[in-house]
Amino acid sequence: MSLATPPSATLAAAASPEEALLQALPDAAWLVELPSCRVRAVNAAACALLGREPRALCGAPAEDLLAAPEDLAWWAEARRLLAAGRPPEPLDSHTVLATAEGGIRHLRRVARPLHRSDGAAPAACLVALQDLSETQQARAELADALAELRATLEATADGILVTGLDGEVRGFNRRFAELWALPPELAEVGRGADVLAWMNRAVRDGKTQARRLETLRDAASLAATDRIELVSGLVLERVARPLESAGRAIGRVYSFRDLTERLRAHDRIDALARHDALTGLPNRLHMAAQIEQAVRSMRHTGDAFALLVIDLDRFRRINDSLGYEHGDRVLRDAGERIRRGLRQADQIARTGGDQFALLLRHADAAAAEAAAARVLAAVARPWQADDQPFTLTCSIGIALCPAHGRNADELLTHAEAAVRQAKLAGSNGLRFHQQHAGADLRAQIQLDHAMRQALAAGRFRLHYQPQVSLSDGRIVGAEALLRWSDPALGEVPPGRFIPVAEDTGFIIALGDWVLSRAISQAARWHRSGLEVPVAVNVSALQFRQPRFLDRVRSVLRDHALPPSLLELELTESILLHDADQALPRLHGLASLGVRLAIDDFGTGYSSLAYLKRLPVGRLKLDRSFVHGLPDDARDAGITRATVQMALALGMEVVAEGVETEAQRRFVAAAGCHAFQGFLHAPALDPLSFASRLAEHAPDPATAPREGRDGNRRAGDGAAALQGERGLAVGAAPTGARLALVHRPVCD
Ligand code: C2E
Ligand code: MG
Ligand code: MG
Repeated sequence: MSLATPPSATLAAAASPEEALLQALPDAAWLVELPSCRVRAVNAAACALLGREPRALCGAPAEDLLAAPEDLAWWAEARRLLAAGRPPEPLDSHTVLATAEGGIRHLRRVARPLHRSDGAAPAACLVALQDLSETQQARAELADALAELRATLEATADGILVTGLDGEVRGFNRRFAELWALPPELAEVGRGADVLAWMNRAVRDGKTQARRLETLRDAASLAATDRIELVSGLVLERVARPLESAGRAIGRVYSFRDLTERLRAHDRIDALARHDALTGLPNRLHMAAQIEQAVRSMRHTGDAFALLVIDLDRFRRINDSLGYEHGDRVLRDAGERIRRGLRQADQIARTGGDQFALLLRHADAAAAEAAAARVLAAVARPWQADDQPFTLTCSIGIALCPAHGRNADELLTHAEAAVRQAKLAGSNGLRFHQQHAGADLRAQIQLDHAMRQALAAGRFRLHYQPQVSLSDGRIVGAEALLRWSDPALGEVPPGRFIPVAEDTGFIIALGDWVLSRAISQAARWHRSGLEVPVAVNVSALQFRQPRFLDRVRSVLRDHALPPSLLELELTESILLHDADQALPRLHGLASLGVRLAIDDFGTGYSSLAYLKRLPVGRLKLDRSFVHGLPDDARDAGITRATVQMALALGMEVVAEGVETEAQRRFVAAAGCHAFQGFLHAPALDPLSFASRLAEHAPDPATAPREGRDGNRRAGDGAAALQGERGLAVGAAPTGARLALVHRPVCD
């Protein structure tokens, strides 16, 4: 390199190797002549950086180009040292350059004397500049981005762990440390191995976890999601994603989400959906799933099993009479009684209002029957509600798998059909599924249809069963009982069609027909001088009709029947259900002058305290108690106690179902006022009843003209029959015997 070469010429021709090198440098650089310290050559990058022409630069004092204090000091020092025959030390530091546009550039500047191979003092110095502005900006941007990223990671609800490709920990956020309960000292830099060891210990199944991590490590680009359980009880969802840079996997990012609460809530919802809230037992849905599962296992193992459907008998009565709170308690207790007799593998569910199901594994017909017998016995054990003992029974339908069905739907349907059969057969028993049982429901639907047609076609009739005084044998009343003889179905007993009518609501129309028919009949008898009170059975649904009281009043008025000649027979459950509504309605009826009786007394759950408040004149002792008289000590006790209680409440007692003289004597001795039963007569058509009435009329000469309650009684009108009804009354040896010789006025 020749130091005498003028700078301008040097630039233009690139005369020396140093200058050629200078031009080839990508960064700004210039050569400074020593010891003059003047710029000899500059390259294009330097001109661009300094914003000046080469001519303006070449020949200028070196300190003009970079005039930072450090540069000025270095050039001064360089001059001093060169003058002393010593080369200056290189300068390598950062500086700032104000640009022509008024901006600032951050530069790294290196000033280095170019030593000569002969050891002589350096004749030139190379000043090279590296523009750091972009790097600086990129670094600042990177720092911002990192800060943002860090803030984001800290703000996320997930725990984040970043590892390198070989699994070493690169970083994690605070949430990660929280979830894994990391001790604070492990958060320090350089404790990555300890963090991994801690994680291994914190996982419930460490071995499996280690294996999974191994798999992930081997497949760097694999994304994976799994669930891990920690010893602390937390359940975490772990998502592993590859960490890539420039399309190359450089590690993994794991995010951990706490699923514990969500899983618990899910479990709770699932449990609610599959369980019955009242009893806490599995529900129908759950049972269906269990049955399906049992069917699947039956296919593999060949193990037969049995499904029992248990339906509480007449449970509605309990709800109606004891109230829903007691009803609920009874349901819970019934579930418990049934559950107690189960083997571990068996399953119970509440499949409906008062219905339970049992799944008996490894059970054939004999085992199912034995289990059903145990359930029947358990449910039939005496019950108690507020010191009031009562009886509850159940009916059981059984379907066997595979004999009676091969899926949950089939088995449940068949067991439920069988339970209906058990009920029809008198309840408190069990029935196995039979092929034709499914026809039962269809039969009920047909019966309902036939009933509606029968009413429209006038095929229903009322018969009247005499009620006989136990003191003098007179007929003191008549109970109207429905009779239906159908051209297709034959004679259908009320015990068969009334429950169906109650289920379908048809009882409202049917009961209304009975009411007006019976009142119309009683009114005819009344007009003809036969003042026999007629008792009408009233169903719960009918009684609860809002306009029931109005209806009774208007029918009585239409037929001009004195209300005292109508008696309404209500069951205990009607009286006890919804006492707030029943009581005013009863008082309304009583104030009309209508007589009220409690039918089938003893089969419900009335308490003495409640009965006392009712405007009821008579109790009808249920025939199930009369049946065992006089020998059955329990029936005898109940009869006596009922009569005593009724007397104490100022009520009369009518014994139902008296079939034998011994029964009649017993109920008479017990203090009953009247009886009804085959001993005297079954329910009679109106004509026969009127005739019977006449037969039992007392001698007109001796008979009292007024009844106990001021109404004229049955026998009073015997003579009147002749005139109004065209009946001839013939003299009889004992009392007044009436012979029908002419047109009757009965319907
Ligand atoms: P209930 O009201 O208790 O009627 C008495 C039942 O006992 C009648 O059966 C009657 O025929 C029967 N019975 C009478 N004496 C004897 C006897 O000595 N021995 C035996 N074993 N039974 C006797 P029925 O007519 O079959 O009626 C059965 C039930 O059907 C009635 O019981 C009543 O609950 C209901 N029912 C009948 N007619 C009507 C009606 O018009 N409306 C409503 N809602 N229910 C009715
Ligand atoms: Mg009755
Ligand atoms: Mg009765």
